[in-house]
Amino acid sequence: MGLGFFKALCCNNSQHEIPIDSSDFSPGRPRKQTYEDHLHDVKPAPTSQAQVGPVLGRPYVDVTMMYELEKELGRGQSGVTYLCTEKRTGRKYACKGIARGKLTRKEEIEDVRREILTLQHLSGQPNIVEFRGAYEDRQNVYLVMELCTGGELFDRIIAKGNYSEKEAAALIRQIVTVVHVCHFMGVMHRDVKPENFLMTSQDDHAPMKATDFGLSVFIEPGKEYKEVVGSSYYVAPEVLRRNYGKEIDVWSAGVILYILLSGVPPFWAENEKGIFDAVLEGKPDLESKPWPSISASAKDLIRKMLAYDPKKRITAADALEHPWMMVGGQASDKPIDSAVLIRMKQFRAMNKMKKLALKVIAQNLSEEEIKGLKQMFRNMDTDNSGTITLEELRAGLSKLGSKLNESEIRQLMDAADVDKNGTIDYYEFITATMHRHRLEKEENLFKAFQYFDKDNSGYITREELRQALTEYGMGDEATIDEVIDDVDTDKDGRINYEEFVAMMKNAG
Ligand code: ADP
Ligand code: MG
Repeated sequence: MGLGFFKALCCNNSQHEIPIDSSDFSPGRPRKQTYEDHLHDVKPAPTSQAQVGPVLGRPYVDVTMMYELEKELGRGQSGVTYLCTEKRTGRKYACKGIARGKLTRKEEIEDVRREILTLQHLSGQPNIVEFRGAYEDRQNVYLVMELCTGGELFDRIIAKGNYSEKEAAALIRQIVTVVHVCHFMGVMHRDVKPENFLMTSQDDHAPMKATDFGLSVFIEPGKEYKEVVGSSYYVAPEVLRRNYGKEIDVWSAGVILYILLSGVPPFWAENEKGIFDAVLEGKPDLESKPWPSISASAKDLIRKMLAYDPKKRITAADALEHPWMMVGGQASDKPIDSAVLIRMKQFRAMNKMKKLALKVIAQNLSEEEIKGLKQMFRNMDTDNSGTITLEELRAGLSKLGSKLNESEIRQLMDAADVDKNGTIDYYEFITATMHRHRLEKEENLFKAFQYFDKDNSGYITREELRQALTEYGMGDEATIDEVIDDVDTDKDGRINYEEFVAMMKNAG
């Protein structure tokens, strides 16, 4: 079996069956300011001002005013990805265009929304492509993200045949990191394969990033996943048996590891039925050539990643700790300073009004929007008490790879624990870790403003601020002075909507 099977593999997309999500989609209403922070000086096309797109629920935007769309970078199931240049800065990005005409069913619209939500949720984590923005015009939905110029891992494998253990370890570490980050952040990837990992540059040792979250779902505990998704070579046996969980991603990564070391897939046949039969049998050949010359430690890891019983399969976190992952002298690249940590640190620095406003927003988010964070909370709340203790926060952050010292962890705890009862409850956690992109929703900002502006006058007065803060035990004069001083930029002693929005959108 030469390279032919890779070619076949390349076009094998037939298994993409999309799960149906029942959550209702509401297109929203026209709003004043719904654009991402970085769009500040770009106005929507005049004719489309009040028109709200059905997919993103935001006003139509003329993408060509912001970005110059250039050559095609690649195409997959859902659309065409272009190289693009941001006109304002001259920076290069990748822009995935999804034709709205193709989104006829409600589920297809849901899929696109979920892909964007997932990328936003994971953006900022190691080995995951950076999210830039999502836009919609009458023809397309656009997903703008960091550009990776080094091509797909898939093409590198084909060009190279197989890898040394050292090279393979460097690559698989990054893939397993992505799986670990996804799982920790409450996402099941469901399409781990070499086509979905891109090299960030042409360099031989360029880092790799996961780009395609089109089949990912937010993990709902207790839910039985049944949809057969993914590509046949990488599919885990329990997927074919239609009852699976996040362990399937570790299996797929195990298949990639097998391919990297031997140049051929572990479960192979001339047709799909044959491949599925081999997967269901689940006995990878680790005896014939070239396996006798491959280290016992590598084979041990493959056996653990391809354990037939998902309950006995190694977890992504444990795989990162496997001795073979250190091949080449490198300790496992654990995710460092993750997005979550960055968000918690930012939260720590916010004034109390902003913290409270964020809490109001967090309480108003839809289930869909917080599924990932909810799962993360559960991951940290190891005793299922509904609150995170200092001990649990320490363990959870160290799982995410943080190297914070004790006093930093205490400071984070202190920042997130808004009501100061010594533990972080569910809403406090969501509030502290919520993604900044949530703020772009005008609706959310407006609700938070109304929470403070009790008499609907359009201004938050000193008295109203005192009332709101007092409910959370922080209505002392010093805090009120500090907030007014910080937010009331026109110095009229009260806070108008523009001042409020400016505070919410500034980085601090
Ligand atoms: P699909 O969901 O249709 O499979 P992908 O997100 O996988 O779409 O994108 C299709 C192809 O476009 C990728 O395989 C890759 O070649 C190219 N591509 C996608 N994202 C990027 C990016 N950020 N930088 C460079 N090329 C990209
Ligand atoms: Mg793809």
